[in-house]
Amino acid sequence: MWDAVIVGGGPAGLSGALMLGRARRRVLVIDVGEPRNRFTETMHAVLGRDGTSPAQLLADGRAEVESYGGVIRHSAVTAVERVTDGFSLTLDEPGADPDAEGAVLARRLLVATGASDKLPDIPGLGDLWGRGVATCPYCDAYEVKDARIGILATGPASIMQAQLLRQWSESITYLSHTGAEPIGQEAAGFAARGIEVAPGPVERVLAADGRLVGVELNGGRLIELDAIFTIPTLLPADRSLLSLGAATVENPMGVFVQVDATGRTSIDGVWAAGNVVNPAANVPISIGAGALAGGAINHDLVLDDIARARAGSEQ
Ligand SMILES: Cc1cc2nc3c(=O)[nH]c(=O)nc-3n(C[C@H](O)[C@H](O)[C@H](O)COP(=O)(O)OP(=O)(O)OC[C@H]3O[C@@H](n4cnc5c(N)ncnc54)[C@H](O)[C@@H]3O)c2cc1C
Repeated sequence: MWDAVIVGGGPAGLSGALMLGRARRRVLVIDVGEPRNRFTETMHAVLGRDGTSPAQLLADGRAEVESYGGVIRHSAVTAVERVTDGFSLTLDEPGADPDAEGAVLARRLLVATGASDKLPDIPGLGDLWGRGVATCPYCDAYEVKDARIGILATGPASIMQAQLLRQWSESITYLSHTGAEPIGQEAAGFAARGIEVAPGPVERVLAADGRLVGVELNGGRLIELDAIFTIPTLLPADRSLLSLGAATVENPMGVFVQVDATGRTSIDGVWAAGNVVNPAANVPISIGAGALAGGAINHDLVLDDIARARAGSEQ
């Protein structure tokens, strides 16, 4: 039985694994290898690694985890269930666990499976995701400062996204699409800061040589753009947590599994960290959350070790 199995080997999962490996725990990371930011070539706002590729960060993280004896395997966890003293995990590649014949057994679980982005269904948009189409201004806006930026509205929060992006450029066009038309104070705020409004649905996103060049609105109007920011629907990969009965909480970005400050869920022995439970997490926040969870899991294992040792000595 592993001391801890970590589902997901992105920034949160590897950070948790590093803590546990350095605590001399037997830790197994099971990872599909599709981190949320795999569409982009460089990461930003990651202290000490600003401008690094996401793939390089994770390759370095995997090497660090393995240097402390952590084991990393490529597979998907397809089911999790509680068993005596821990959890049993089913993998889609059964040979992925070097020790187990069948299911993988773990004393504690850290779920760090991240989330995926469901983009508006507009031809051409998905092809440019992470390469001209973005969501996080702190990650990607500096690279298009003073450029022509479109805000592809998807809901009420897009109004503030437009005002936020105005911090980086004077050329902001709010593409109403399926978002609200600004009215009242919002319209006054747009007018005061020179944010243009392009009403109506966006028909298609236009590219030349693989680069974003603009959008075509319903009715044929063309708008030239260098970048688009939008707020997609974030879909947490929380199936395993929900199947165990983890409590959830609603926030403005949806319904997420509830965790405490260390990432502990309502299920005894199960922690979660990163985008799977926190829609606002970026790479450094996910690394921090994984580290907190790793430390808390080790603490919990020590309590279990004490109980087991006492039970043994009192027999
Ligand atoms: C286009 C784009 C650009 C971004 N740019 C930046 C940036 O510049 N700076 C920044 O800080 N943040 C950026 N982000 C945000 C960043 O990608 C996430 O906040 C971060 O990846 C979250 O880390 P995580 O460990 O929670 O999840 P992830 O990095 O998504 O890792 C989760 C891992 O779990 C695996 N997994 C999922 N389900 C299973 C399963 N059932 N079994 C096994 N493995 C599983 C996945 O395949 C993946 O490898 C960007 C996001 C996007 C979409």
